[in-house]
Amino acid sequence: MKVPREVEKHARNKVYAENDPYLPPKGKGLVALSICNNCKAVYHNKKWFLDKKLYEEKSKLKDINWVICPACKKTKENVPSGVVTLKGSFLKQHKQEIMNLIRNEDEHSKKYNPLKRIMKINEKGNEIEILTTTAKLAQRIGSILKKAYSGEVEYKKHENAKFMRVEWRRDIIET
Ligand SMILES: [Zn+2]
Repeated sequence: MKVPREVEKHARNKVYAENDPYLPPKGKGLVALSICNNCKAVYHNKKWFLDKKLYEEKSKLKDINWVICPACKKTKENVPSGVVTLKGSFLKQHKQEIMNLIRNEDEHSKKYNPLKRIMKINEKGNEIEILTTTAKLAQRIGSILKKAYSGEVEYKKHENAKFMRVEWRRDIIET
């Protein structure tokens, strides 16, 4: 199904992380040093970092506030903010490389923002479903798939902008 360009453009511009109940309200962030005891993400200087060296350095300190980071909390409670569904016969033949591309994007994303990551990958018959912690990452995965492999991509934003559903499909046309 073709998506009108306006819809796609609209969806692109209107994804906000605001109003995400998993994030502390503005100005009420965590105390100075917190570490997620699940994924080892470190919170300091008002930002999360997923960095082995930083974790090793900070985890030795006293007065650490051990927490579960918002991304791990979402994963545990299975509350994704984005869902990307991959469909079509092209997927079957190129699954490995497509999944590598998506995993690379996840690595890249986590490095810049540990709260923006893939939560879970579900295989359902000939379809693959990717759950993400942010709507933006789901949108990003849709856009890199389109760029790398063409096909059709559709973005469906929930009206409160907290959730996005993305569907990418490419079929191999037999000639
Ligand atoms: Zn975590």
